Amino acid sequence: MKIVITGAAGFLGSHLSRYFINKGHSVIGIDNFITGNINNINDLFKTKKFEFIEYNVTNYIHVSGKVDAVLHFASPASPIDYLKFPIPTLKVGSLGTYRALGFAKAKKAIFMIASTSEVYGDPLINPQTESYWGNVNPIGPRGVYDEAKRYAEALTMAYHRYHKMPVRIVRIFNTYGPNMRLEDGRAVPNFMVQTLKNKPITVYGKGEQTRSLCYVSDLVNGIYKLLLSNINTPVNIGNPHEISILKLAQTIKKLTKSKSRIIFKSLPQDDPQVRRPDISIAKSKLKWQPKVSLEDGLKKTVKYFKEAL
Ligand code: NAD
Ligand code: UDP
Repeated sequence: MKIVITGAAGFLGSHLSRYFINKGHSVIGIDNFITGNINNINDLFKTKKFEFIEYNVTNYIHVSGKVDAVLHFASPASPIDYLKFPIPTLKVGSLGTYRALGFAKAKKAIFMIASTSEVYGDPLINPQTESYWGNVNPIGPRGVYDEAKRYAEALTMAYHRYHKMPVRIVRIFNTYGPNMRLEDGRAVPNFMVQTLKNKPITVYGKGEQTRSLCYVSDLVNGIYKLLLSNINTPVNIGNPHEISILKLAQTIKKLTKSKSRIIFKSLPQDDPQVRRPDISIAKSKLKWQPKVSLEDGLKKTVKYFKEAL
């Protein structure tokens, strides 16, 4: 297959590009580096199977020749990033998705959108099933991301229903691993950098809020299986192992043998209190479930952050 991946220089885009190339496919990566890093894809330039275009996909997308699949992964994804870039986040989720869908339609390609557990907002049910409609504050600071992704899902389903396009909607739950930026601002990179530098570990609120963390290799494998399936409706991909943020901070402190102390800072507005994927659909229809334990995944991630620092 020839695959176009938007957001290819980001955390997930870089792993996906490498995964597809290793499976023998060709990848055209597109990225404008708003939150990406060229170092994430430097090694890929050695292979003829990788091409790269520096471009903002909010604008009209053109690539010549045949394309079999378009994976729209471009978007700031860390709360810190989308608070810093609220309008580019709204634009890449709305206009960018519109451009990527139109491009996929013209190429008669399969379209995949990187959606998110944030479409469930601060959920009133736990775990979250795909049939749950969510609890999102449209005008809160996180609304720029959540609503852009909800709109992206609506647009994707409209193209599927009206144009009969094959589409895939992957609702990604918190994923971590190598290639996350040191200053990304999400919990895992923050705690990695803080513990490795023996600086205070910043837990927001009391740290009682929960997340369920998926190691990147598991996620990429799930995305591959979803792409090859015929499921046009949303599928949760994530690891259902749910822990509190305080416990996550303590676990990373232990693994890094750090002297850091834990400090408590104010909880950001609309921070979801719980989050855990129900992965019944992925399990039954994709025969997929995560394999990497939190401890093993964090150990691999510590190694990356040690080298990156
Ligand atoms: P990231 O910030 O590391 O990567 C996003 C990439 O998109 C960056 O390289 C950035 O430069 C690029 N980009 C942003 N706007 C662009 C534009 N207009 N044109 C071209 N490139 C642009 O984030 P990530 O964690 O790799 O997330 C990738 C995708 O997966 C996002 O769509 C995100 O919403 C989704 N997602 C990620 C997670 C997660 O846990 N990592 C969870 C849910 C959803
Ligand atoms: N968090 C924290 N300290 C940090 C960064 C994040 O306590 O330095 C918390 C954050 O408030 C949230 C959870 O960790 O409750 C996960 O945050 P992250 O930014 O990783 O992703 P989110 O799931 O909120 O998008």
